[in-house]
Amino acid sequence: MARRDYYEVLGIERTATVTVVKKAFKRVALDLHPDRNPDDPEAEDKMKEASEAYSVLNDADKRAIYDRHGHDGLSGQGVGGFGDMQDIFSHFQDIFDGVFGGGMGGMGGMGGRRRRTAPSRGADVRASVLLSLREAAFGAKKELEVTHPTPCEPCRGTGAEDAKLQQCGNCGGSGQVAHARGPFVLSTTCGQCGGEGATAEKACEECSGHGEVPSTRAVSLTVPGGVDTGQTLRLTNQGQAGRLGGPPGHLYVTVEVAPDDNFHRDGYDLIHELHLSYPQAALGDEVELPTLDDEPERIKIPAGVQPGDTMVVNNAGVPRLDGRGRGDLIAVIQVDVPKELSPRARELLEELAATFSKEA
Ligand SMILES: [Zn+2]
Ligand SMILES: [Zn+2]
Repeated sequence: MARRDYYEVLGIERTATVTVVKKAFKRVALDLHPDRNPDDPEAEDKMKEASEAYSVLNDADKRAIYDRHGHDGLSGQGVGGFGDMQDIFSHFQDIFDGVFGGGMGGMGGMGGRRRRTAPSRGADVRASVLLSLREAAFGAKKELEVTHPTPCEPCRGTGAEDAKLQQCGNCGGSGQVAHARGPFVLSTTCGQCGGEGATAEKACEECSGHGEVPSTRAVSLTVPGGVDTGQTLRLTNQGQAGRLGGPPGHLYVTVEVAPDDNFHRDGYDLIHELHLSYPQAALGDEVELPTLDDEPERIKIPAGVQPGDTMVVNNAGVPRLDGRGRGDLIAVIQVDVPKELSPRARELLEELAATFSKEA
């Protein structure tokens, strides 16, 4: 049988980069995977061909020889010679990591969960913090109580009393149980040990064999000025502790800003509803505008201001996260109509009304 060109096998150009070669091989391997091609000897042959092509094109020296001399140049270079599918997939395990996920059904040890006996990174932990508008604007230090599972101390997270584990008798420690299916040997996760390859001699009493216990921890949080609802702060390495010496996870804290009596927020701008009486609006006035800072701002209201008009105080809004100044404080004029009138006020208003109808 004539041997196909390696580039053709992977469906790539002769100028393809290493990354493209890798991607192409992954794609071909996915198509040929035994889960998608049960009992198909042709798929296995094609997979061998693709693996051979990949092992050459992914190796700069071999690829150079192949480019110059073709298949003949590589005879005696130890190319090919892959066994069955299981052999192939475990040979290229690193490039398939995360590609097949659980769908691999564990090709002889490449699937399955991580052993509890190996170090692993701690899980990320999520928490939230409620801030006042002022805290969100200017930053704050907060103490948080964070509750999350943590590896059980007495059993070192193994779930076994005194961390004493024994090899699983059902799978011989591989975590996988093999089943013959046509030309392929497929394997599934061992039901006895859940794929971990080991079982406890006796379950740890502290954690009932779970390997984890809930723990509550105080965390100091420094909130930068300018944050807003929905934003998330990352505290590196403040998540769940790693297992058996693995690194800790991260802590993600989502910010929520409580509603404020005086302002609502539009990005870095602050909106304040400024209530004026009808005479104030008609005649003009000087009023105090509340601010986020200690001192209120005195502003002049021009005569004849209309409901919905805005008065802007530049640079009195929320400080920007990047430190480049502040947003604006925007007063939106509301003109209040009195619901009740004193006899004197009624008299004056009626006089005013009569004046208006004469002028009209
Ligand atoms: Zn087992
Ligand atoms: Zn325990």
